[in-house]
Amino acid sequence: MSELGVGRPTKRRAGSAVGGLPVADSRPVLDGDAVLGSRCTVCRYPTAQQNLPWCPVCYSTTEAARFPCTGTTWSSTVVAIPVGTHRPPFGLAYVDLDDGPRILVHLAEPAVLELGTRVEITGTDDGDLVATAEGQR
Ligand SMILES: [Zn+2]
Repeated sequence: MSELGVGRPTKRRAGSAVGGLPVADSRPVLDGDAVLGSRCTVCRYPTAQQNLPWCPVCYSTTEAARFPCTGTTWSSTVVAIPVGTHRPPFGLAYVDLDDGPRILVHLAEPAVLELGTRVEITGTDDGDLVATAEGQR
C-alpha cells in the first residue's frame, strides 16, 4: 500500500480482497419498511444519505427522512462479471423511490426491466438493497 493512501478517505468502498482502507459505507440503508435518508428543510430535495450536512441543491440544512420501499425503475441491466461476493448473472437497477431519491439496487431476478416498472425493496443481500418487480412477488 502506498503511503499516500494511509489515513486518507477515498470514495472507493473498502474491499478486503484489495486491502482497501475502512471508509463510510455509502449504500442506502433499509429500516423495516423504509429506506433511510435526508430531505432538505427548504427545497425538499431527497437523498438516500443519512446525516447529510447540507442540501446538494440549495445548501440549506437537511433533516432525517424515511422513504417508501416502492418506486419505478429509471434504468436496469444484467451484470455478467463477478463483483465482490456477487456472482453473475445478477440484475442492477436505478429506482426512483415514490416521493424519494433515486437509488441503486440489486434485482431479485437477473432480468432487464422496462423503464417505469413498479418495484419494491424486499430485502438486502450482503448490505445491498434488493428489489423485486411487481408481479414477481
Ligand atoms: Zn435544498
